[in-house]
Amino acid sequence: MSGAVGTVPDWRTLVAHQQPEWPDRARLGEVVGELARCSPVVTSWECDALTSRLAKVAEGRAFLLQGGDCAERLDNVSSRAIRSKLRLLQQMSVILAAGSGLPVTTVGRIAGQYAKPRSSPTETVDGLTLPVYRGDAVNGTGFTRTERLPDPVRLRRVYDASKYTLDVLRTSGAEVFTSHEGLLLDYEEALTRPDRRSGRRYAGSGHLLWIGDRTRQLDGAHVAYFATIDNPIAVKLGPATTPEHALALIDRLDPDRRPGRLTFVVRMGAQRVRDLLPELVEKVTASGAPVTWVSDPMHGNTFTAPSGHKTRRFGDVLAEVAGFVEVHRALGTHPGGLHVELTGEDVTECVGGAVGLDDLHRSYESACDPRLNADQALELAVLVAEMLR
Ligand code: PEP
Ligand code: MN
Repeated sequence: MSGAVGTVPDWRTLVAHQQPEWPDRARLGEVVGELARCSPVVTSWECDALTSRLAKVAEGRAFLLQGGDCAERLDNVSSRAIRSKLRLLQQMSVILAAGSGLPVTTVGRIAGQYAKPRSSPTETVDGLTLPVYRGDAVNGTGFTRTERLPDPVRLRRVYDASKYTLDVLRTSGAEVFTSHEGLLLDYEEALTRPDRRSGRRYAGSGHLLWIGDRTRQLDGAHVAYFATIDNPIAVKLGPATTPEHALALIDRLDPDRRPGRLTFVVRMGAQRVRDLLPELVEKVTASGAPVTWVSDPMHGNTFTAPSGHKTRRFGDVLAEVAGFVEVHRALGTHPGGLHVELTGEDVTECVGGAVGLDDLHRSYESACDPRLNADQALELAVLVAEMLR
């Protein structure tokens, strides 16, 4: 068991935000029991390897690229789609490495990114109110009672899809790690195993897990669960984050100050990053904590287009990264990485970029947030590479 286990309350005794209301708890128990007997999706030594890569990022000697779908879809898991995402991430990594002069560690939002936090538990259309879509791990996108009913059997399908995705990624030979939001704690706990040699606990569902901006409460179940695992972990920090909260997260999640253990993924919005980030970076740096800083220029820049589509402007995405890099340059700290939602498919979900995309109707496929398509993602990589020169 990790040294942290004794010092934090059991996550099961705390409030877990953003969990589904499973209609059949007995069935959930069965599925979770089954998962607890399955082999983990990733190994502890792979997780440790990512921690050492991220330690280099924290020291300013490497750059992190983290990207993939907002929400993976069980029906879209194919070797072709996986390879297309991987190819795009690798092309971006090559561009970023050339620009920064640093090795780039590539981490997909892939092989487990199936659960979504939502701003409201229900959705009403034409007078009918149904539970909101919470990711393919929980329910379906279709606006019917049956589709929206949380079904624990989906957790087993997510496990199988994640395993398959890892198998495809492993045959590519390239070094690529997996990550997802560690949202559904029953699923995560079922796949958490003590390492045979060290006895320390590892989440077996993915290499890096992150805590979302909505579930990073200090007294919440997510922070307590994450304190018990030894994987590299990240926390999303939105515009409401105070420096005191960031420092308290460090104390809870990285009490030993292990380089590579903790990444802060900042998503303040293009308008606010220059105002909000400096104090955060200054105070964390002054504390001596070896945190890895990454920019998520997507989640603070979402708006609804007149057509009703949730979208993001390419210019805003670029502007937030520029602000992030400028703040770090001014403070002499390392702008360590980029976290983006993207797909190798030719979708029309974000507006702008050199191709000048503005017809969101043509191919809007995301079940949740809008992703950069391959053209937009490569253009972003080129422009970010220039900033890092
Ligand atoms: C996400 O990464 O899809 C997400 C929900 O992000 P955040 O927690 O930053 O809102
Ligand atoms: Mn998202």
